[in-house]
Amino acid sequence: MTSTVQSLAATDNVPTGLFIGGDWVTGSSGGTLEHIFPGTGSPNATIEIAGEAEVDRAVESAWEAHREWISYTPEHRRDLLLNVADALRDDAERLGRLNTHDFGVPTMMSAAHAGLAEKFFRYYAGYVDKANGSSTPVADKFDVNLIEHEPYGVVGIIAPWNGPLVVVGLNVAPALAAGNAVILKPSEISPFTPLRFGELCVQAGLPVGLVNVLPSGPEGGEALVRHPGVKKIHFTGGGSTAQKIITAAAHNLTPVATELGGKSAALIFDDANLDVAAVTMSFQGPVGQSGQSCACSSRIFVQNTVYDAFMERFIGAVESAKIGDPFDPSTIVGPVVSQAATNRILGVIDRAVDEKAGELVTGGKRLGGDLASGYYLEPTVFSRVDNKSALAQIETFGPVVSVIPFADEAEAIALANDSVYGLNAFIQTQNVGRAHRVARKLEAGSVWVNRHSDLGPQSPYGGYKQSGAGRAGGIEGLHEFQQVKTIRIGMDF
Ligand code: NAD
Repeated sequence: MTSTVQSLAATDNVPTGLFIGGDWVTGSSGGTLEHIFPGTGSPNATIEIAGEAEVDRAVESAWEAHREWISYTPEHRRDLLLNVADALRDDAERLGRLNTHDFGVPTMMSAAHAGLAEKFFRYYAGYVDKANGSSTPVADKFDVNLIEHEPYGVVGIIAPWNGPLVVVGLNVAPALAAGNAVILKPSEISPFTPLRFGELCVQAGLPVGLVNVLPSGPEGGEALVRHPGVKKIHFTGGGSTAQKIITAAAHNLTPVATELGGKSAALIFDDANLDVAAVTMSFQGPVGQSGQSCACSSRIFVQNTVYDAFMERFIGAVESAKIGDPFDPSTIVGPVVSQAATNRILGVIDRAVDEKAGELVTGGKRLGGDLASGYYLEPTVFSRVDNKSALAQIETFGPVVSVIPFADEAEAIALANDSVYGLNAFIQTQNVGRAHRVARKLEAGSVWVNRHSDLGPQSPYGGYKQSGAGRAGGIEGLHEFQQVKTIRIGMDF
């Protein structure tokens, strides 16, 4: 099902400068870039790109703001973070539209990203006046032994293009709650929502410079990672970029937390509600955000006794999702992010066909007609795929999934774990014993039973294996942005 792109909403005023120390900065050393709207393939703004000079300026401003931030009482900091949560709530519609301008995510999903960020701010605001350290006895003495959690000072948070507001919630909120100042480096592909967020932070009353927003590509990112004034890097993105960042961070031995890619397995057992499983996995798979999500269930394993019955429902759900203008509220599948991504994803499909990795049962093509100038790809499903194939092993980051049959629990677990990744896993079953048994054996940071990946601030989220080292959410997410200090006081003087 397709629709026409009619409503680019050219009247939306998108922010284009860098946001440093509460000021809009132009004329930056990294130059400018024409930002392309994926819905039409046409430019929608010229944006500033941060270079080394702007990173220097942001680091200086952030340290000043950090000193002010930690001079506030915990209650005051908590209330200011709650103000940010309120601002995210009140601005959700505009943030949603900016998110759509960023990378073409349909508006039916994009405002939800602001809602997610709001929830995380509310949750972490609650920690500011409650998070506490501990004291423990020490061997052979009666000393007082205090264990305290302190901020790093200034942290760099590097975001991928596919979820800048998600990173704002998952990482910026705990970083601020822990007492840090933040330099947020969004991708140059998704600058608009993070810039608006920076502005909202100042309007909410945070000290200017506490949140600086510097869209850039690899050069600006590397300048941030190498800067001696940045005491921790939190990176969300691809594994090959993580390798470069960890190498660059080694220069100053700066610690790096990573949230990386995935090839998440969904296990559909013969006792599952197949109607629910088909709809859930179509959205979690090739349909939601055109499969451009770290949590995409790109390998769907189905028990062979229900394989055909599942496939009929699944293909039906995938083919009925409306493709078109991401600003149309009824659109479910928008464009993929760029011409380069289009070429890459079509290359994955061609290779899978050439290598006979599986049978192409729906999709596989770029849409023409009214959608020809944008980057619209059909949600694509390959059936009876070889789990060893490139299609099933390499992250596609697009609307392409593999469906693979299995005989029993043991085979399902072995196939699911046969991947270098370990971000998410999904189980569809009505047998609670099986749900627990299988969940414990899956090598993944999050296992979702009869549910799509529904991020909440209370649950730590992150990867096993090459899907990263670090957690966002819960007390674990706060600890990512704290360093531990022991203070031991001798009592025998
Ligand atoms: P990417 O790795 O290309 O870029 C991520 C960020 O790193 C961008 O801001 C980019 O400008 C920056 N960057 C690139 N080179 C750099 C360098 N040398 N030094 C410093 N910064 C540099 O990833 P992407 O294409 O933006 O996002 C897609 C990837 O992100 C996928 O692999 C996806 O699975 C992953 N992802 C993971 C999660 C998670 O929570 N685990 C969430 C979203 C996306």
